[in-house]
Amino acid sequence: MATAGKVIKCRAAVAWEPNVPLMMEEIEVAPPQEGEIRIKVVATGVCHTDLYHLFEGKDKRGFPTVLGHEGAGVVESVGPGVTDFKPGDKVIPLFLSQCGECKFCKCPKTNLCDRNWSSKYHDIMSDPTTRFTCRGRPILQFMGTSTFSEYTVINQIAVAKIHDDAPLERVCLLGCGISTGYGAALNTAGVTPGSVCAVFGLGAVGLAAVMGCKNAGASRIFAVDINEQKFEKAKVFGATDFLNPKAYNKPISEVLAEMTNGGVDFSLECVGNTEVMRSALESCVKGWGVSVLVGWTDVKDFSAKPIQLISGKTWKGSLFGGFKSKDSVPNLVCDYMTGRIKLDEFITHKMSLEQVNDAINLMKTGDCIRCILNISK
Ligand code: NAD
Ligand code: ZN
Repeated sequence: MATAGKVIKCRAAVAWEPNVPLMMEEIEVAPPQEGEIRIKVVATGVCHTDLYHLFEGKDKRGFPTVLGHEGAGVVESVGPGVTDFKPGDKVIPLFLSQCGECKFCKCPKTNLCDRNWSSKYHDIMSDPTTRFTCRGRPILQFMGTSTFSEYTVINQIAVAKIHDDAPLERVCLLGCGISTGYGAALNTAGVTPGSVCAVFGLGAVGLAAVMGCKNAGASRIFAVDINEQKFEKAKVFGATDFLNPKAYNKPISEVLAEMTNGGVDFSLECVGNTEVMRSALESCVKGWGVSVLVGWTDVKDFSAKPIQLISGKTWKGSLFGGFKSKDSVPNLVCDYMTGRIKLDEFITHKMSLEQVNDAINLMKTGDCIRCILNISK
């Protein structure tokens, strides 16, 4: 490619500081260094975690940054030492890496790679070894990915090579939300055939969790949300019962206990609210109930009565659905292409990168499941 080895000037949406709209800017993207890949981003989803960082994140040192971590694109050029990728390959950037060499990557119990940005820079939710500059200032790479940009540079341990025929404007969703919710049900909760499940929060992550429960063979899936508009979509993914906690004058855990003879076998919190985390745990049946934290928050502590765990329940959580990212994302892409998992049904809006603030507002008001931003052809 004519651009290989050169600085690329391109459009990106820059978050200069928290709580203000993103600004469309021309940024400079440096060539990839040792082990790195420069990617032309084709499409990206907008996930609640982008909003979390912009509006709720507690560390202001995480700015200026380019948000976006649910993208897909094409390799533009590769740095020295990269042998597994070549220009033109279709790829999905990964906010959770898989180096394959650290003790966590070698252990089948976890997908947490020790070389990921989050091991060192969790507070700022970014990889500060950025290849971006704008107006003479370095710009952070949110979650090590920064897909709200026409080009980005990512370490090869955080890039998945996917099928040549994969539709990038849809499989980009596998870079975060869908894999997260789906895997939380399959891998982390370990939903079993015939079981009763409850999913709290019916955004893309929660709907994907519903899809995971269904594919695992759950017999009954309660979909819980304070926004009843989400119920229709939840049905599409396999939910069988629908509950709005605001419609009852007692805790939703009591409602669920009555409806299920003691509580659900598996519950998944897909909101990012510590009160909901507690209520999801309380909704589980004693003896064997498993509750999984999927929603993201680092602002408040959570709490529960110890008897909840003494009585035999398990409280756990996972990042990226417990999937080892580099190995699993290409398989998930094939699962979509062969019809094993749904993606199209999550997409409610399509926009251009210039409309990113509108997309963020849609997420904020709960009027969309996923908005896809078309970044480049
Ligand atoms: P979203 O905003 O689209 O969906 C959240 C849903 O929760 C909405 O439908 C909303 O109406 C519902 N809700 C809000 N308050 C509620 C309450 N009190 N009870 C029941 N439902 C309630 O968000 P999303 O993109 O689906 O993401 C969901 C969460 O998952 C976020 O916290 C996000 O940061 C997190 N996340 C975690 C990981 C991970 O690896 N663990 C990865 C991606 C996203
Ligand atoms: Zn690793």
